[in-house]
Amino acid sequence: MMDTQLTLTGFLKRGERFFPNKQIISRTSPTMTHRFSFKDYVKRTHRLADALKKLGMKRGTKVGTFGWNHHRHLEAYFAIPCSGAILHTINIRLAPEHIVYIINHAEDEILLIDGDLFPLVEPALIHLKTVKHVIVMTDDVTIPESSFPNVHSYEQLLQEADESFVFPKDLDENMQAGMCYTSATTGMPKGVMYTHRSIVLHSIALGLSESFGLKESDVALPVVPMFHVNAWGFPFAALNFGSNIVLPGPMFTPALLLDLIEQENVTITAGVPTIWMGVLAEQQKQPRDLSSIRLIISGGSASPKGLIQAYIEKLGVPYVNAYGMTETSPLVSMSHPTTEMTKYEAEDLLDIRVTQGLTASLIDTEVVNEKGEVPWDGVTMGELRIRGPWIASEYYKDERTNEAFRDGWLYTGDIAVMTKEGYIKITDRTKDLIKSGGEWISSVDLENALMSHPAVLEAAVIAIPHPKWLERPLACVVLKENAYASKEELISSLENDFAKWWLPDDVVFLQEIPKTSVGKFLKAKLREDLKSYELPID
Ligand code: ADP
Repeated sequence: MMDTQLTLTGFLKRGERFFPNKQIISRTSPTMTHRFSFKDYVKRTHRLADALKKLGMKRGTKVGTFGWNHHRHLEAYFAIPCSGAILHTINIRLAPEHIVYIINHAEDEILLIDGDLFPLVEPALIHLKTVKHVIVMTDDVTIPESSFPNVHSYEQLLQEADESFVFPKDLDENMQAGMCYTSATTGMPKGVMYTHRSIVLHSIALGLSESFGLKESDVALPVVPMFHVNAWGFPFAALNFGSNIVLPGPMFTPALLLDLIEQENVTITAGVPTIWMGVLAEQQKQPRDLSSIRLIISGGSASPKGLIQAYIEKLGVPYVNAYGMTETSPLVSMSHPTTEMTKYEAEDLLDIRVTQGLTASLIDTEVVNEKGEVPWDGVTMGELRIRGPWIASEYYKDERTNEAFRDGWLYTGDIAVMTKEGYIKITDRTKDLIKSGGEWISSVDLENALMSHPAVLEAAVIAIPHPKWLERPLACVVLKENAYASKEELISSLENDFAKWWLPDDVVFLQEIPKTSVGKFLKAKLREDLKSYELPID
């Protein structure tokens, strides 16, 4: 068979040849929505590549992007890797010292920054050791004030660039194409390098019906940021499959997302559960027509049962949980039920939907403890390990590689059980586990159950030191507006579903749960905040 190379240039060519009229709808500011065809998109991609080359971009050069989801960012997604350079998407929500660290660590030479985010980065520019040029992405050609010498306007550069630029035809599929740093709840972020081959294979997997089933007739709205694991691969896959793509731009709200879904007839969308909680509340306040949607994908953290139930039963919208990490490109598994499960009782089916799901094709997963792979009994916990062609094999220039990558596997740090059907169910992260009297308690299960209570908006369960049991669970709860539930009521609501020793010893009520830059509960901060908290003596 031919050994043709799996590179992103093939995707760009396919999008241009077969789907020239497909649309990119991009919101660039609260007042500006830009629409253009794949054909025009590819032309601008050539111009961008030419402009970057003139600024010194070569094979292997790292080009950082610091932007929202919009068409200029999408242009960078292909212009950079198709030139043989490396697209480094930077999480705009990281702390300034982390941003400086990752740009220096990655050795970015050129940065593309959104106009409205420029003031955020400007003070850090003097700390950047390798950056030679900064390009500001705005709708016009203005260049903001800065003491940094080489600041350019994106649109100006494109106007001056050559549309007949030709991408190299000899890229190797194992060349590095992109990189992304994990948002790191502790320590400095860790870099993950994606190759052309890994991105291409992952994108093709997104077209399988067992995952996103992305296809030409889709209108895809990635709410998940383009600075977070490549917006879960949507931008690359959409170009290849010819799906229209809707990019929500800066500072979007639940109301705006619902308007976009209704106006653009969005068929598939993806984001973290906190997004879907906000969208649900807004839809209940002011209903929009959601009939175009065939799939909402939720990932990045666990979706509470009540949320899944509300989408499926109340709104009639398919909502599926997906699991992955920065290290895994991210697709690992999705909780689509199999045909066999259509016979399940409603409650059992919901128990399946709440899991992280069935492992994707070409990916291998195992839950292991000190005795080896755990039985598929839904109760024996172990650490989830993963391998496959779009799973990282190391962290970029980082000695923490040795902790996570061993014997050809990525050890995820996620504690899980396998259901009897082979669905992965995450019960905790290793660092958030609660170990009471030598036995593990799943904080995630308790949180899900608490968040199913009608008065509870958010719940996080953390370990508190205990003289006898070493650790005991403490529930931290945020109540919904105008709702009330007592500690006793919340604890007793768990009694039917959990063993007595799993029940939290106490409940503290908070205004909000601290969150990471990508909206996940930041339990390390919660543990720190509650350091001096003392459990009631029983
Ligand atoms: P970070 O590690 O920087 O928080 P990632 O997005 O790479 O960023 O996070 C990956 C982690 O998110 C996983 O290891 C897992 O703990 C959690 N996660 C991802 N998807 C899900 C999901 N569907 N359900 C529960 N947890 C999830």
